[in-house]
Amino acid sequence: MRSLAERVTSGQFVYMTELVASGLKREAQVLEIASKLAMIPEIAGGSITSYAGGALGQDSIRVGTAVRARGLVPNVHQTCVGQDRRSIDKILNQLAALEMHNIFAISGDWPKAAQRTAVFDIDSVQLAAHIAELRARTGTPFFISCAVSPFKYQREDLLYQYLKLEKKIAAGADMAITQVGWDAKKFIELKRYLDQRGLTTPMIGNVYVLGAKAAERMGTGNPPGCWASPELVAATAREAAGPDKGLAARLERAAVTVAILKGIGYAGAYIGGTHDPNYIARIIERGEELAPRWKELLPDLQFGRADGFYLYDPPKEPKPSRTFLPMVLDAAATALPVPWVKQPQDTPGRRLLKSAFAWLDRHPALSHAFEHAEYLSKREIFGCKNCGNCVLGSMEYVCPETCPKHMRNGPCGGTDHGQCEVIPEQPCIWVKVMERAEASNQIESLKTFIPPPDRALTGTASWLNYYLERDSRPGRPKKGIVESQTVPDEAR
Ligand code: SF4
Repeated sequence: MRSLAERVTSGQFVYMTELVASGLKREAQVLEIASKLAMIPEIAGGSITSYAGGALGQDSIRVGTAVRARGLVPNVHQTCVGQDRRSIDKILNQLAALEMHNIFAISGDWPKAAQRTAVFDIDSVQLAAHIAELRARTGTPFFISCAVSPFKYQREDLLYQYLKLEKKIAAGADMAITQVGWDAKKFIELKRYLDQRGLTTPMIGNVYVLGAKAAERMGTGNPPGCWASPELVAATAREAAGPDKGLAARLERAAVTVAILKGIGYAGAYIGGTHDPNYIARIIERGEELAPRWKELLPDLQFGRADGFYLYDPPKEPKPSRTFLPMVLDAAATALPVPWVKQPQDTPGRRLLKSAFAWLDRHPALSHAFEHAEYLSKREIFGCKNCGNCVLGSMEYVCPETCPKHMRNGPCGGTDHGQCEVIPEQPCIWVKVMERAEASNQIESLKTFIPPPDRALTGTASWLNYYLERDSRPGRPKKGIVESQTVPDEAR
């Protein structure tokens, strides 16, 4: 059995299939499908979901092991949902012990069962970095996939998707799989973005076999991050009225997508939306047949958003202008030794503050009063949640803890035209981060990796933690948190 890494990096166009190991599907059924898929030589691996659409599925490690026993290379999805670093580490160690090395590291959808809170201890960039660190430390040849969505039509949301992909690659991701989408111009845009930056990480394009019912749901932005345009929804509805209920049309659209991906220069196609091995074989065969004609097929895959943002189109909107708060705080950072200085120098002022805070730290009543005052002022201005590891300076003065998923390195893929997946009436916080960074020509600085916080510091003064070097921050990640930390729900 050739490894996924070998096949993806061989230069030959590869195929992967998604195996939705949902709680609704009997495990025996999934395994029977895997046995049949293993007979299709073009398929390099089966990607096993564990939390599709925010609902807990079958145990992906158990399914992965059984899938492998049936001859199909497993790519196990690992989300950040409902798990702290310790439990994620346990899973990674299990995967290593079982020699299952392909991991799809993703943030994951907001759990359906959760109303207000859910545990998201780390984000997908931190997860990729953590797996890469484990790979380097133990020599386990993990092959890390990450996700990217070019199918974002809100300007800042899209810019951040691409920037976050760069962060994932820098953190150690070996390949990327796109979100579902039916817009060839977006597939091309992503490839061009990477080529311009000399990034050769293999991209696998999502090929979703879309029926009318799923299209209707995606037309409303469900599951989060999946979107079908009104034109596409109407087309699938028309097709579904035919004698074959739209089967031939949806398989043909999937084959056209395969052909286009191959033509653009993607490393492969990730086929989802069907488990039927016969359909998958048909899509592969037809896609290969259509591939030489991929350019003339481009108009068949143009289901974008008429008013949507495309990176390489002439700009429609002026660049955002700087706003008062970041301007004042940036000015303060150039004159004072405040914690949000990007490149702190060892100045007499900083040394003085350090000694003052060390003194304060030795007087619990005073340090508690300080912590309270810090929290109250930051709560009013930034919506501070008192995490104790303040990274406002690395996030254009937007608090990461105001993101329901507590992301510190960019938005998840669940946004809907710049609105939050969890609180749809609220704009995604990362839109503001990108707007401010663009206004002050600081987009490059957003590529800085922000490590996970030390959650044991929750409720303590971040200024003290900063000056006394107790917190976890860019350039100074805290070691050893994985072994010692869990995230109690009530701490959130
Ligand atoms: S990053 Fe932490 S300390 Fe800073 S404002 Fe947000 S919750 Fe408060």
